Formats: sequence, C-alpha cells, structure tokens
Amino acid sequence: MSATIEFDDLSFETADEEHVRREKARGRELRRSQWWKNRLAVGRCHYCKGWFHPHELTMDHVVPICRGGRSTRGNVVPCCQACNSRKRQMLPVEWQQYVDSLRNAGASELERVRSRMRADREVVRRPEPARGDGGHGSGAEC
Ligand SMILES: [Zn+2]
Repeated sequence: MSATIEFDDLSFETADEEHVRREKARGRELRRSQWWKNRLAVGRCHYCKGWFHPHELTMDHVVPICRGGRSTRGNVVPCCQACNSRKRQMLPVEWQQYVDSLRNAGASELERVRSRMRADREVVRRPEPARGDGGHGSGAEC
C-alpha cells in the first residue's frame, strides 16, 4: 500500500481551525499507534537519515497541518529535533531545497551542506507568518 501526498497541499493556504484541531487530534492518536512506535524504533530521521534514539525523534508532518496537511501515514515521518526546528524556520521552498541537497549530498558532504544552509539563513529574511486570525503561532507541528 503506498500513500501519496497531493501536491496541491504544498500551497501557502492556511487551513481552517476546524481542520487543524481535527488533524492534531488524529496526530495524537497516530502517535500512540503501534505503527508509529515501530517507525520510532527504527530510529532514523526521515530527512537527514541520521540515527537517533526513539525518544529523540518527533512526529513531523511532511505537509504541515496548518498548510492543509493531514495526520495520515503518508504524511507523517520520524524527524530528529534538528531537522524539525530547521523545517519550522524555513520557508517550504527553502526546506525543499535543503532536503534535496541532503539527498544529493554524499555523507561526507553533509556537514558542508549544513553549514552552507546556516550561512544562507543569515541573509534570507524570514517573512512573518501570514495569519490574520490570531492563530496559535508557534504550534509544535506548524
Ligand atoms: Zn534529521
């Protein structure tokens, strides 16, 4: 069984509160599932492919809930804390470039890529989240 992510979901649209509430609740359920525990037990970050202790890994929504993503098996991946916070600091397009660069880089190049991304971040101005309705701001999954 393969799950696919709809690319429409990668747009900048913000999801309505109802969606966010529902999918966060589903995420909590999914976190308790044996399927998720098995994924954590593997101990591998989906993005940087690093190995971690299960309790160092978090559940990441590939398409964030606040952008219309869902808490489905096809949209949640184990993610280390470094990748998780990096993802939250980047624009989706910057994050995608970062993930692509990790994929293309050999293991020895990983550190070089990482330090380059750190340097890039200093010149890239981060936009304010466009949320007019007083949303939750720094939700863990957004
Ligand atoms: Zn990682």
